[in-house]
Amino acid sequence: MSTLGVGVIGTGNIGSFHIDRLHHAIAGARVAAVHDVATERANALAGPLGAAVHTEPLALIDDDEVDAVVVTSPGETHAAFALACIARGKPVLSEKPLATTVDDAVRVLEAEVAHGRRLVQVGFMRRFDPAYRRMRATIADGAIGTPLMVHCIHRNPASPDFFTSEMLATDSAVHEIDATRWLLGTEITAATVLTPRRSHLAPQGLRDPQLVLLETTHGVVVDIEVFVNAQYGYDVRCEVVGSHGTVALGATDTTSLTHDGATRRAVPSDWKERFDGAFHAEIAQWVASVHAGHAMGPSAWDGYAATAVTTAAVDALHTGRRTTVDLADTPALYA
Ligand code: NAP
Repeated sequence: MSTLGVGVIGTGNIGSFHIDRLHHAIAGARVAAVHDVATERANALAGPLGAAVHTEPLALIDDDEVDAVVVTSPGETHAAFALACIARGKPVLSEKPLATTVDDAVRVLEAEVAHGRRLVQVGFMRRFDPAYRRMRATIADGAIGTPLMVHCIHRNPASPDFFTSEMLATDSAVHEIDATRWLLGTEITAATVLTPRRSHLAPQGLRDPQLVLLETTHGVVVDIEVFVNAQYGYDVRCEVVGSHGTVALGATDTTSLTHDGATRRAVPSDWKERFDGAFHAEIAQWVASVHAGHAMGPSAWDGYAATAVTTAAVDALHTGRRTTVDLADTPALYA
């Protein structure tokens, strides 16, 4: 198997995380080139790897040493980079979101459909988490009967300075939105957002926590508590309630300490710790699928549907009203 040359656009938080894994821990891949508007950061990361540094993103995508691209720049840049990769026939793993507007997401869908085969995978890594996969298999086996409700929790210890009230949907709940669509195999049709009393520990002006309520095509109701200044750790929970039983994410692979009349279990500190295995499986499978020439994993359609739902949730946050999600017909490429 030849070694896949990967170009990475964006060398910040998750970009550097993916670069390290791609170059050192994934068989059959190396980081061939990087680009970042923060040139010094790109140079510092590329130097030890012997990777090229491009000062223009399109030059990276055009580089003959780059067989496939990972996009880890800010969300508003993603759609343009996905479109450039599709135009050149290069596979792309785009971090979420695929696009920050529904119109941009549709442009990516249309370009990929016109190209005629899938090139885009979106970084919804929870689909690669073993506990989420077991939940999905349990639901598909019929063990809990007909799914009726989903209860989700997404808590972070503290939000970064740039976090806005809208980002509780677009950056945080987007993971539960994709996971729910994938677990249930249904689309989301409406969103309502409730805003409980604000935590006094949230930065000034941030509407935190929020309760996002979703409805699906089959009438399942999903509640997502998003609380990004929960202080104590990174805590992700999910339970699907069915007509015959329930299935829930179990405790993560931490140890528990029983001592002095109490049991203590560690809570992950952040998403990197909680989903490290999922990120590894995601990237390994993406590299394998590029070698095999068949894109797998979350598609541009999944990215489009997630953006349509987060757009509705942001609208619901602003208006206080239930907002419907009107999806286009699913193109055959994604059926
Ligand atoms: P980050 O730390 O700010 O990194 C982004 C990098 O891209 C920075 O170095 C930034 O430079 C650079 N950049 C800005 N504009 C650019 C452009 N036009 N072209 C190329 N590079 C550009 O952000 P992050 O936390 O890594 O997040 C990046 C993306 O990954 C976001 O879409 C985020 O939602 C996603 N993400 C996903 C997960 C997940 O769980 N799957 C987790 C974290 C992040 P400056 O610093 O100079 O602006």
